[in-house]
Amino acid sequence: SAYIPAGNRYESMLYNRCGKSGIRLSAISLGLWHNFGSIDNFENGRQIVRRAFDRGITHFDLANNYGPVPGSAEENFGSILRKDFTGHLRDELVISTKAGYLMWPGPYGDWGSRKYLLSSLDQSLKRMKLDYVDIFYSHRPDPNTPIEETMGALDTVVRQGKALYVGLSNYNAEQTKAALAVLKSLGTPCLIHQPKYSMFERWVEGGLLDVLGENGVGCIPFSPLAQGLLTDRYLKGIPEGSRASKPSGFLKAEHITDARLNQIRQLNDIAQKRGQSLAQMALAWLLKDERVTTVLIGASSVEQLDNNLGSLNNVQFSEEELKEIEKILA
Ligand code: NDP
Repeated sequence: SAYIPAGNRYESMLYNRCGKSGIRLSAISLGLWHNFGSIDNFENGRQIVRRAFDRGITHFDLANNYGPVPGSAEENFGSILRKDFTGHLRDELVISTKAGYLMWPGPYGDWGSRKYLLSSLDQSLKRMKLDYVDIFYSHRPDPNTPIEETMGALDTVVRQGKALYVGLSNYNAEQTKAALAVLKSLGTPCLIHQPKYSMFERWVEGGLLDVLGENGVGCIPFSPLAQGLLTDRYLKGIPEGSRASKPSGFLKAEHITDARLNQIRQLNDIAQKRGQSLAQMALAWLLKDERVTTVLIGASSVEQLDNNLGSLNNVQFSEEELKEIEKILA
């Protein structure tokens, strides 16, 4: 059926400025790493994207390799755009993609060479049938390619008009500093950094967040729910169809240890006292830091998406709550 976007879609979402740039992003962004591949149900993904936009999510995150099969998430997202987001709706969306992990065989389909990044973005644009993406990322640092080459490729795609902004993902604090300096010298400042960050994964607090804050670069934490661990998904075992139950993907049953479950249960109790789901509390906990622009969630259903959006109703934490949370995470 024809999609008519909700008329009130901009009324309840929060839009945070991305670092010191001119652009604001919805406080919650949707990632298409899982649930949008050729192995997944297309209509389900389509409903999730529609619902996200109806509720004010403007930012959709992809990468060349998302699927499985690699490339299929971009293809499916492109079809959703052509079916549902026609006319000028493209101008209401911030679409990102990346290159940096293995995409095709041989020496030019992986890591951070100019050769790989430029051809990969061309392929991504073809798969999505887009003229440009809003953000193009170096998906991971490459220890064997000069930073000048990788950042030079990012600068080039902006000058070619194939991306409006550039970003870094998975670069540590030192690598980020070096990359930011090169990008600045080229005249293409870094818009945003995408690190793994959640209550269970806090490496960014050891320096990266400071570098981003000092340089006016936005931050978009990925896997903010630790792939579903920071929700009620696994409180009663591993449900069929859940990410940990599937052979593809990186969340494995053995990650759900008794110690983890014990933490999850205690966090869930605090969330309930706050009148939130654990997923909502985990997202709010990230958004309380002003350097965090938006949290990049995944969802396998419209219900999960709706639940996660509810996090914006309470993003305040008392000192006691924060202390209690630290005790559980210690
Ligand atoms: P999350 O930590 O948000 O995990 C999402 C998964 O958690 C869902 O697919 C679902 O799993 C479960 N879930 C979500 N909401 C709920 C809820 N309310 N209640 C119960 N379960 C819930 O993020 P992802 O790991 O999916 O990553 C998000 C995005 O980050 C990716 O799509 C991608 O865009 C980006 N990313 C970037 C990386 C990088 O290197 N730059 C690496 C990884 C991700 P289930 O299937 O079990 O229902």
